[in-house]
Amino acid sequence: MPDRLHAFTMAICRADGSSDEEARLVADHLVLANLYGHDSHGVGMMPAYIQNTTTGNCTRNHHAKISRDNGAVIVIDGGAGYGQVIAKEAMDIGIDRARKHGVCVLGLTNSHHIGRIGHWGEQCARAGMVSTHWVNVHGHKSLVAPFGGAEPRFTTNPYCTAVPRKGKEPIVLDFATSQVAAGKVRVANNKQVRMDEGLLIDAAGNPTTDPGVLYNPPFGAILPFGLHKGGGLAVICDLLAGALTGGLTHSPRTIKKDSTRIINNMLSIIIDPAAMGGVETFEDEVETFITWVKSARPQAGVAEVLAPGEPERARRADREKNGVPIDGTTWQQLIEVARKVRVNDTEIPGVAVA
Ligand code: NAD
Repeated sequence: MPDRLHAFTMAICRADGSSDEEARLVADHLVLANLYGHDSHGVGMMPAYIQNTTTGNCTRNHHAKISRDNGAVIVIDGGAGYGQVIAKEAMDIGIDRARKHGVCVLGLTNSHHIGRIGHWGEQCARAGMVSTHWVNVHGHKSLVAPFGGAEPRFTTNPYCTAVPRKGKEPIVLDFATSQVAAGKVRVANNKQVRMDEGLLIDAAGNPTTDPGVLYNPPFGAILPFGLHKGGGLAVICDLLAGALTGGLTHSPRTIKKDSTRIINNMLSIIIDPAAMGGVETFEDEVETFITWVKSARPQAGVAEVLAPGEPERARRADREKNGVPIDGTTWQQLIEVARKVRVNDTEIPGVAVA
Protein backbone atom coordinates (compact mmCIF):
# COMPACT_ATOMS: atom_id res chain seq x y z
CA MET A 1 0.00 0.00 0.00
CA PRO A 2 1.44 3.45 -0.80
CA ASP A 3 1.57 4.63 2.80
CA ARG A 4 1.56 8.41 2.28
CA LEU A 5 -1.44 8.41 -0.09
CA HIS A 6 -3.29 6.09 2.29
CA ALA A 7 -2.47 8.24 5.33
CA PHE A 8 -3.49 11.44 3.48
CA THR A 9 -6.84 9.93 2.40
CA MET A 10 -7.47 8.75 5.97
CA ALA A 11 -6.57 12.19 7.32
CA ILE A 12 -9.12 13.90 5.03
CA CYS A 13 -11.84 11.46 5.98
CA ARG A 14 -11.07 11.66 9.72
CA ALA A 15 -10.90 15.46 9.73
CA ASP A 16 -14.33 15.43 8.07
CA GLY A 17 -15.75 13.53 11.06
CA SER A 18 -15.46 9.86 10.12
CA SER A 19 -14.35 7.34 12.73
CA ASP A 20 -10.84 5.90 12.42
CA GLU A 21 -12.30 2.62 11.18
CA GLU A 22 -14.47 4.32 8.53
CA ALA A 23 -11.53 6.43 7.36
CA ARG A 24 -9.38 3.29 7.14
CA LEU A 25 -11.96 1.37 5.08
CA VAL A 26 -12.43 4.32 2.69
CA ALA A 27 -8.66 4.77 2.25
CA ASP A 28 -8.06 1.01 1.83
CA HIS A 29 -10.69 0.88 -0.91
CA LEU A 30 -9.71 4.00 -2.86
CA VAL A 31 -5.95 3.43 -2.73
CA LEU A 32 -6.40 -0.20 -3.81
CA ALA A 33 -8.46 1.02 -6.80
CA ASN A 34 -5.53 3.31 -7.73
CA LEU A 35 -3.07 0.45 -7.30
CA TYR A 36 -5.20 -1.72 -9.60
CA GLY A 37 -5.08 1.06 -12.20
CA HIS A 38 -8.72 2.13 -11.82
CA ASP A 39 -7.92 5.78 -11.05
CA SER A 40 -11.55 6.63 -11.86
CA HIS A 41 -12.45 4.92 -8.57
CA GLY A 42 -9.39 5.92 -6.57
CA VAL A 43 -8.57 8.79 -4.22
CA GLY A 44 -9.89 11.22 -6.85
CA MET A 45 -13.35 10.36 -5.47
CA MET A 46 -12.57 12.07 -2.13
CA PRO A 47 -13.70 15.61 -3.15
CA ALA A 48 -17.10 14.20 -4.23
CA TYR A 49 -17.38 12.15 -1.04
CA ILE A 50 -16.65 15.17 1.19
CA GLN A 51 -19.07 17.31 -0.80
CA ASN A 52 -21.70 14.65 -0.14
CA THR A 53 -21.01 14.31 3.60
CA THR A 54 -21.16 18.12 3.85
CA THR A 55 -24.55 18.33 2.09
CA GLY A 56 -25.96 15.28 3.89
CA ASN A 57 -25.98 13.15 0.71
CA CYS A 58 -23.60 10.71 2.42
CA THR A 59 -24.05 9.80 6.09
CA ARG A 60 -20.84 9.48 8.10
CA ASN A 61 -20.36 6.65 10.61
CA HIS A 62 -23.44 4.75 9.50
CA HIS A 63 -23.78 0.96 9.48
CA ALA A 64 -25.60 -1.66 7.40
CA LYS A 65 -29.04 -2.63 8.72
CA ILE A 66 -31.01 -5.71 7.67
CA SER A 67 -34.39 -4.43 6.53
CA ARG A 68 -35.84 -7.79 5.34
CA ASP A 69 -34.76 -11.19 6.53
CA ASN A 70 -35.83 -14.45 4.94
CA GLY A 71 -32.73 -16.45 5.84
CA ALA A 72 -31.01 -17.00 2.51
CA VAL A 73 -32.71 -13.94 1.00
CA ILE A 74 -31.99 -10.66 2.73
CA VAL A 75 -32.27 -6.96 2.05
CA ILE A 76 -29.86 -4.50 3.65
CA ASP A 77 -30.49 -0.78 3.96
CA GLY A 78 -27.40 1.39 3.63
CA GLY A 79 -28.99 4.61 4.90
CA ALA A 80 -26.78 6.54 2.43
CA GLY A 81 -23.77 5.61 4.58
CA TYR A 82 -20.23 5.37 3.19
CA GLY A 83 -20.37 2.48 0.71
CA GLN A 84 -16.94 1.29 1.80
CA VAL A 85 -18.41 0.53 5.24
CA ILE A 86 -21.95 -0.49 4.22
CA ALA A 87 -20.95 -2.91 1.42
CA LYS A 88 -18.24 -4.48 3.58
CA GLU A 89 -20.69 -5.13 6.39
CA ALA A 90 -23.32 -6.36 3.89
CA MET A 91 -20.84 -8.83 2.38
CA ASP A 92 -19.87 -10.06 5.89
CA ILE A 93 -23.54 -10.84 6.55
CA GLY A 94 -24.04 -12.38 3.07
CA ILE A 95 -20.98 -14.64 3.44
CA ASP A 96 -22.26 -15.90 6.82
CA ARG A 97 -25.67 -16.65 5.32
CA ALA A 98 -24.15 -18.41 2.29
CA ARG A 99 -22.12 -20.58 4.67
CA LYS A 100 -25.32 -21.51 6.49
CA HIS A 101 -27.71 -21.95 3.53
CA GLY A 102 -25.33 -22.63 0.62
CA VAL A 103 -26.40 -19.39 -1.01
CA CYS A 104 -27.34 -15.86 -0.07
CA VAL A 105 -29.32 -13.60 -2.36
CA LEU A 106 -28.64 -10.16 -0.98
CA GLY A 107 -30.22 -6.86 -1.94
CA LEU A 108 -28.13 -3.90 -0.84
CA THR A 109 -30.19 -0.72 -1.08
CA ASN A 110 -29.55 2.97 -0.61
CA SER A 111 -25.81 2.90 -0.04
CA HIS A 112 -23.57 5.83 -0.88
CA HIS A 113 -21.05 5.00 -3.68
CA ILE A 114 -19.64 1.48 -3.19
CA GLY A 115 -16.67 2.15 -5.50
CA ARG A 116 -14.93 -0.64 -7.34
CA ILE A 117 -17.34 -3.60 -7.33
CA GLY A 118 -14.48 -6.09 -7.66
CA HIS A 119 -13.56 -5.15 -4.07
CA TRP A 120 -16.75 -6.88 -2.90
CA GLY A 121 -16.26 -9.88 -5.16
CA GLU A 122 -12.74 -10.23 -3.74
CA GLN A 123 -14.07 -10.11 -0.16
CA CYS A 124 -16.44 -13.01 -1.00
CA ALA A 125 -13.67 -14.91 -2.81
CA ARG A 126 -11.37 -14.62 0.23
CA ALA A 127 -14.10 -16.46 2.15
CA GLY A 128 -14.14 -19.19 -0.54
CA MET A 129 -17.43 -17.97 -2.08
CA VAL A 130 -18.36 -17.45 -5.72
CA SER A 131 -20.29 -14.22 -6.09
CA THR A 132 -21.98 -12.19 -8.74
CA HIS A 133 -23.01 -8.55 -8.35
CA TRP A 134 -25.37 -6.33 -10.35
CA VAL A 135 -25.31 -2.63 -9.55
CA ASN A 136 -27.32 0.47 -10.47
CA VAL A 137 -26.83 4.13 -9.62
CA HIS A 138 -29.26 6.94 -8.93
CA GLY A 139 -29.33 10.27 -7.21
CA HIS A 140 -27.69 12.18 -10.03
CA LYS A 141 -28.32 12.80 -13.70
CA SER A 142 -28.32 10.15 -16.44
CA LEU A 143 -24.99 9.51 -18.19
CA VAL A 144 -25.36 6.50 -20.48
CA ALA A 145 -27.53 6.16 -23.59
CA PRO A 146 -29.49 2.94 -24.11
CA PHE A 147 -28.51 0.94 -27.22
CA GLY A 148 -29.81 2.94 -30.19
CA GLY A 149 -30.65 5.97 -28.01
CA ALA A 150 -29.40 9.51 -28.69
CA GLU A 151 -29.77 10.64 -25.07
CA PRO A 152 -28.90 9.14 -21.67
CA ARG A 153 -31.36 7.09 -19.61
CA PHE A 154 -29.26 5.45 -16.87
CA THR A 155 -25.67 5.44 -15.59
CA THR A 156 -22.63 3.18 -15.84
CA ASN A 157 -24.29 0.22 -14.04
CA PRO A 158 -21.37 -2.08 -13.17
CA TYR A 159 -21.38 -5.89 -13.14
CA CYS A 160 -18.94 -8.22 -11.39
CA THR A 161 -18.40 -11.95 -10.93
CA ALA A 162 -15.59 -13.26 -8.75
CA VAL A 163 -14.49 -16.91 -8.57
CA PRO A 164 -12.03 -18.07 -5.89
CA ARG A 165 -9.06 -20.30 -6.77
CA LYS A 166 -7.15 -22.71 -4.63
CA GLY A 167 -3.94 -21.02 -3.41
CA LYS A 168 -4.20 -18.31 -6.07
CA GLU A 169 -5.76 -14.89 -6.54
CA PRO A 170 -9.41 -15.10 -7.70
CA ILE A 171 -10.83 -14.62 -11.18
CA VAL A 172 -12.45 -11.15 -11.04
CA LEU A 173 -14.50 -9.88 -13.94
CA ASP A 174 -15.56 -6.35 -12.99
CA PHE A 175 -16.64 -3.61 -15.37
CA ALA A 176 -19.02 -0.77 -16.06
CA THR A 177 -21.65 -1.69 -18.68
CA SER A 178 -20.86 1.60 -20.41
CA GLN A 179 -18.03 1.85 -22.94
CA VAL A 180 -16.02 3.58 -20.18
CA ALA A 181 -16.59 4.26 -16.48
CA ALA A 182 -17.77 7.85 -15.89
CA GLY A 183 -14.72 8.46 -13.72
CA LYS A 184 -12.49 7.77 -16.73
CA VAL A 185 -14.29 10.56 -18.63
CA ARG A 186 -13.73 12.77 -15.54
CA VAL A 187 -10.02 11.95 -15.54
CA ALA A 188 -9.77 12.72 -19.31
CA ASN A 189 -11.67 15.96 -18.79
CA ASN A 190 -9.32 16.89 -15.90
CA LYS A 191 -6.34 16.21 -18.14
CA GLN A 192 -8.00 18.04 -21.07
CA VAL A 193 -7.35 15.12 -23.42
CA ARG A 194 -9.55 13.65 -26.17
CA MET A 195 -10.95 10.15 -25.65
CA ASP A 196 -10.96 7.24 -28.12
CA GLU A 197 -13.62 7.12 -30.81
CA GLY A 198 -16.73 5.04 -30.23
CA LEU A 199 -17.15 5.90 -26.54
CA LEU A 200 -19.19 9.12 -26.44
CA ILE A 201 -21.99 10.92 -28.28
CA ASP A 202 -22.77 14.63 -28.21
CA ALA A 203 -26.15 16.23 -27.44
CA ALA A 204 -27.31 15.60 -31.01
CA GLY A 205 -26.49 11.90 -30.69
CA ASN A 206 -23.43 12.15 -32.97
CA PRO A 207 -20.08 10.47 -32.17
CA THR A 208 -17.54 12.67 -30.35
CA THR A 209 -14.18 12.27 -28.60
CA ASP A 210 -14.66 15.31 -26.31
CA PRO A 211 -15.00 14.27 -22.61
CA GLY A 212 -16.48 17.73 -21.96
CA VAL A 213 -19.88 16.53 -23.28
CA LEU A 214 -20.47 15.03 -19.85
CA TYR A 215 -19.61 18.26 -18.02
CA ASN A 216 -20.68 21.20 -20.20
CA PRO A 217 -24.19 21.76 -21.61
CA PRO A 218 -25.67 20.77 -23.96
CA PHE A 219 -24.87 17.34 -22.49
CA GLY A 220 -24.08 14.23 -24.49
CA ALA A 221 -23.74 10.67 -23.20
CA ILE A 222 -21.50 7.62 -22.88
CA LEU A 223 -22.45 4.68 -25.11
CA PRO A 224 -23.18 1.26 -23.63
CA PHE A 225 -20.49 -1.39 -24.28
CA GLY A 226 -21.05 -4.36 -26.57
CA LEU A 227 -23.86 -2.94 -28.74
CA HIS A 228 -27.28 -4.51 -27.99
CA LYS A 229 -25.75 -7.15 -25.68
CA GLY A 230 -23.96 -4.71 -23.36
CA GLY A 231 -26.85 -2.27 -23.65
CA GLY A 232 -29.15 -5.09 -22.56
CA LEU A 233 -26.90 -5.97 -19.60
CA ALA A 234 -26.99 -2.33 -18.45
CA VAL A 235 -30.81 -2.45 -18.44
CA ILE A 236 -30.76 -5.73 -16.49
CA CYS A 237 -28.47 -4.12 -13.85
CA ASP A 238 -31.09 -1.45 -13.14
CA LEU A 239 -33.88 -4.03 -13.07
CA LEU A 240 -32.08 -6.41 -10.67
CA ALA A 241 -30.29 -3.87 -8.44
CA GLY A 242 -33.00 -1.20 -8.49
CA ALA A 243 -36.40 -2.86 -9.09
CA LEU A 244 -35.92 -6.34 -7.56
CA THR A 245 -34.18 -5.21 -4.35
CA GLY A 246 -36.59 -2.31 -3.78
CA GLY A 247 -33.69 0.14 -3.95
CA LEU A 248 -35.34 1.94 -6.93
CA THR A 249 -34.28 2.26 -10.54
CA HIS A 250 -32.68 5.26 -12.26
CA SER A 251 -35.85 7.01 -13.47
CA PRO A 252 -37.49 10.44 -13.31
CA ARG A 253 -38.52 9.50 -9.73
CA THR A 254 -34.90 9.26 -8.55
CA ILE A 255 -32.94 11.42 -11.00
CA LYS A 256 -31.65 14.61 -9.39
CA LYS A 257 -30.27 16.66 -12.26
CA ASP A 258 -27.99 19.05 -10.35
CA SER A 259 -27.13 16.74 -7.49
CA THR A 260 -23.78 15.13 -6.72
CA ARG A 261 -25.58 12.42 -4.74
CA ILE A 262 -24.35 8.93 -5.71
CA ILE A 263 -26.59 6.13 -4.48
CA ASN A 264 -25.70 2.54 -5.37
CA ASN A 265 -28.02 -0.44 -5.11
CA MET A 266 -26.65 -3.94 -5.64
CA LEU A 267 -28.06 -7.42 -6.08
CA SER A 268 -25.40 -9.88 -4.88
CA ILE A 269 -25.69 -13.64 -5.20
CA ILE A 270 -23.12 -15.35 -2.98
CA ILE A 271 -22.71 -19.11 -3.48
CA ASP A 272 -20.77 -21.65 -1.43
CA PRO A 273 -19.13 -24.12 -3.88
CA ALA A 274 -19.47 -26.78 -1.17
CA ALA A 275 -23.25 -26.65 -1.70
CA MET A 276 -22.98 -27.24 -5.46
CA GLY A 277 -20.56 -29.62 -7.24
CA GLY A 278 -18.28 -29.83 -4.16
CA VAL A 279 -15.16 -27.84 -3.35
CA GLU A 280 -12.64 -30.34 -4.71
CA THR A 281 -14.31 -30.68 -8.12
CA PHE A 282 -14.86 -26.94 -8.30
CA GLU A 283 -11.24 -26.05 -7.53
CA ASP A 284 -9.93 -28.67 -9.90
CA GLU A 285 -12.24 -27.61 -12.74
CA VAL A 286 -11.43 -23.91 -12.26
CA GLU A 287 -7.70 -24.65 -12.61
CA THR A 288 -8.21 -27.01 -15.57
CA PHE A 289 -10.37 -24.52 -17.44
CA ILE A 290 -8.30 -21.39 -16.71
CA THR A 291 -5.09 -23.23 -17.69
CA TRP A 292 -6.79 -24.32 -20.94
CA VAL A 293 -8.05 -20.80 -21.70
CA LYS A 294 -4.67 -19.20 -21.03
CA SER A 295 -2.91 -21.76 -23.23
CA ALA A 296 -4.48 -20.22 -26.36
CA ARG A 297 -1.88 -18.94 -28.81
CA PRO A 298 -1.93 -15.13 -28.43
CA GLN A 299 -2.86 -12.93 -31.38
CA ALA A 300 -0.17 -10.82 -33.02
CA GLY A 301 0.75 -7.95 -30.70
CA VAL A 302 -0.68 -9.68 -27.61
CA ALA A 303 1.94 -10.89 -25.13
CA GLU A 304 -0.25 -13.32 -23.22
CA VAL A 305 -3.87 -14.40 -22.83
CA LEU A 306 -4.92 -13.10 -19.43
CA ALA A 307 -7.67 -14.22 -17.06
CA PRO A 308 -10.04 -11.54 -15.70
CA GLY A 309 -8.34 -9.92 -12.71
CA GLU A 310 -4.79 -10.47 -13.95
CA PRO A 311 -4.36 -7.01 -15.58
CA GLU A 312 -5.23 -5.33 -12.26
CA ARG A 313 -2.73 -7.44 -10.34
CA ALA A 314 0.01 -6.70 -12.86
CA ARG A 315 -0.69 -2.97 -12.50
CA ARG A 316 -0.64 -3.30 -8.73
CA ALA A 317 2.81 -4.90 -8.81
CA ASP A 318 4.04 -2.07 -11.04
CA ARG A 319 2.49 0.74 -8.97
CA GLU A 320 3.65 -0.71 -5.66
CA LYS A 321 7.16 -0.56 -7.08
CA ASN A 322 7.02 2.70 -9.03
CA GLY A 323 4.32 4.69 -7.24
CA VAL A 324 0.75 5.76 -8.01
CA PRO A 325 0.56 8.57 -10.59
CA ILE A 326 -1.97 11.28 -9.64
CA ASP A 327 -2.78 13.91 -12.29
CA GLY A 328 -2.28 17.57 -11.36
CA THR A 329 -5.99 18.50 -11.30
CA THR A 330 -6.90 15.58 -9.05
CA TRP A 331 -4.00 16.41 -6.72
CA GLN A 332 -5.07 20.06 -6.52
CA GLN A 333 -8.63 19.00 -5.71
CA LEU A 334 -7.34 16.74 -2.92
CA ILE A 335 -5.30 19.57 -1.40
CA GLU A 336 -8.32 21.89 -1.58
CA VAL A 337 -10.61 19.39 0.10
CA ALA A 338 -7.96 18.69 2.77
CA ARG A 339 -7.79 22.41 3.56
CA LYS A 340 -11.58 22.65 3.58
CA VAL A 341 -11.92 19.97 6.28
CA ARG A 342 -8.92 21.49 8.10
CA VAL A 343 -6.41 18.67 7.76
CA ASN A 344 -3.27 19.66 9.61
CA ASP A 345 -0.62 20.98 7.16
CA THR A 346 1.84 18.38 8.46
CA GLU A 347 -0.52 15.64 7.22
CA ILE A 348 -0.57 16.98 3.61
CA PRO A 349 2.23 15.27 1.70
CA GLY A 350 4.27 17.35 -0.75
CA VAL A 351 4.53 14.65 -3.40
CA ALA A 352 5.57 15.20 -7.01
CA VAL A 353 2.72 15.74 -9.48
CA ALA A 354 2.62 13.37 -12.48
P1 NAD B 1 -12.41 -2.10 -17.55
O1 NAD B 1 -12.99 -1.72 -18.87
O2 NAD B 1 -11.00 -1.74 -17.25
O3 NAD B 1 -12.59 -3.69 -17.43
C1 NAD B 1 -12.06 -4.31 -16.30
C2 NAD B 1 -12.32 -5.81 -16.37
O4 NAD B 1 -11.84 -6.39 -17.58
C3 NAD B 1 -11.53 -6.47 -15.25
O5 NAD B 1 -12.23 -7.60 -14.80
C4 NAD B 1 -10.22 -6.85 -15.95
O6 NAD B 1 -9.51 -7.87 -15.27
C5 NAD B 1 -10.76 -7.31 -17.28
N1 NAD B 1 -9.74 -7.18 -18.34
C6 NAD B 1 -9.23 -6.02 -18.82
N2 NAD B 1 -8.30 -6.29 -19.78
C7 NAD B 1 -8.25 -7.64 -19.90
C8 NAD B 1 -7.48 -8.52 -20.71
N3 NAD B 1 -6.60 -8.07 -21.60
N4 NAD B 1 -7.68 -9.85 -20.58
C9 NAD B 1 -8.57 -10.32 -19.67
N5 NAD B 1 -9.33 -9.54 -18.87
C10 NAD B 1 -9.17 -8.20 -18.99
O7 NAD B 1 -13.31 -1.58 -16.32
P2 NAD B 1 -14.29 -0.31 -16.30
O8 NAD B 1 -15.52 -0.62 -17.05
O9 NAD B 1 -13.50 0.90 -16.65
O10 NAD B 1 -14.66 -0.25 -14.75
C11 NAD B 1 -13.70 0.27 -13.83
C12 NAD B 1 -14.19 0.11 -12.42
O11 NAD B 1 -15.26 1.03 -12.20
C13 NAD B 1 -14.75 -1.25 -12.04
O12 NAD B 1 -14.04 -1.65 -10.88
C14 NAD B 1 -16.21 -1.00 -11.72
O13 NAD B 1 -16.73 -1.80 -10.68
C15 NAD B 1 -16.19 0.44 -11.31
N6 NAD B 1 -17.50 1.10 -11.44
C16 NAD B 1 -18.21 1.40 -10.32
C17 NAD B 1 -19.43 2.06 -10.41
C18 NAD B 1 -20.25 2.39 -9.21
O14 NAD B 1 -21.32 2.96 -9.34
N7 NAD B 1 -19.83 2.07 -8.02
C19 NAD B 1 -19.92 2.43 -11.67
C20 NAD B 1 -19.16 2.09 -12.80
C21 NAD B 1 -17.94 1.44 -12.68
